[in-house]
Amino acid sequence: MNEQAKKARDIITSYKGRPLRIMEVCGTHTHEIFRIGLRKLLPDNVELISGPGCPVCVTPVGFIDEAIWLALEKGCVITTFGDLIRVPGTEMPLAGARAKGAQVRPVYSPLDAVEMARQNPDEQIVFLAVGFETTTPSACLAAETAKKEGLKNFSLLTANKTMPNAYAALEGSADAFLYPGHVNAITGTAICEELKAKGVSGVVAGFTASELLTALAVILKNAESGEPFFVNCYPRVVKPEGNPSAQKLIAKVMEPCDTEWRGLGVIPMSGMRLKTEYADFDARKKYSMPEIKGRPNPACRCGDVLQGKCKPCDCKVFGKVCTPEHPVGACMVSDEGACAAYYQYGGV
Ligand code: SF4
Repeated sequence: MNEQAKKARDIITSYKGRPLRIMEVCGTHTHEIFRIGLRKLLPDNVELISGPGCPVCVTPVGFIDEAIWLALEKGCVITTFGDLIRVPGTEMPLAGARAKGAQVRPVYSPLDAVEMARQNPDEQIVFLAVGFETTTPSACLAAETAKKEGLKNFSLLTANKTMPNAYAALEGSADAFLYPGHVNAITGTAICEELKAKGVSGVVAGFTASELLTALAVILKNAESGEPFFVNCYPRVVKPEGNPSAQKLIAKVMEPCDTEWRGLGVIPMSGMRLKTEYADFDARKKYSMPEIKGRPNPACRCGDVLQGKCKPCDCKVFGKVCTPEHPVGACMVSDEGACAAYYQYGGV
């Protein structure tokens, strides 16, 4: 452990200030904090709660139903990151739709799906575009590439999300946010400064043990004053201006829209959809998709978990009916999901 990490550890273990609830917005933070045993260092008056930063977890049930509709009713080939294949829809996950004839193929990037479209002109390839500011640029690049090449057999089913309005929807759920460094690497830090001006505190955190220790220590140090604060604890990657090239690409291809978050409902202007100029690559428009509303499993408390209202182990089916092998909700599927982290590391 380096000197900075030791100092941070001492600040954390000796904290005697007011009780604090700190929200790890990002699922990668949740898993890393468990993995390095950081929770065990925390004094009783500091609680870490999970937030809505796992892209698979916040994707609503209806989105899975839409993908299944495209596969079974329109004969499209669904391409997606692996995790999404196991997320339950209203009736079944995409994995279950395969048994009914759906073609579902995992890919590593949206450009892999574009390549699949190039190689298979007789197939209609749809890529499931989910994720935050970190992954949205790659979906935009795929749409841009397909448009440039005039591909007629490629489209996106979008459920991309942005964090700023989600923070507003989570107001009051935590005393401070551990902001996801990889998202801020794209957006910059202006949003965090704006939140501070509104009384919301937080720090941008990196992903190593030392970076996470430092970020938590900085929260505890600043919390003593009782004033709102913001500190960028990941300056080697996060610059105030973010990544202008990625921002420019997103602004060219997509525009903000209202969107549904699993468990949080519709958050105004918290989603991204393809602009009119890219309508030929928008699967909902291309296939005149009817409105499809999903019905979440009433036993699943993913919505409460994602808002820090309960811990995964408070869900009645956690670890019994719902396990990584047989997930009932999205938070148990994804590697970044809070329920999967609690299950894997035995969190309470
Ligand atoms: S344990 Fe399973 S059912 Fe319960 S909230 Fe988590 S994912 Fe949903």
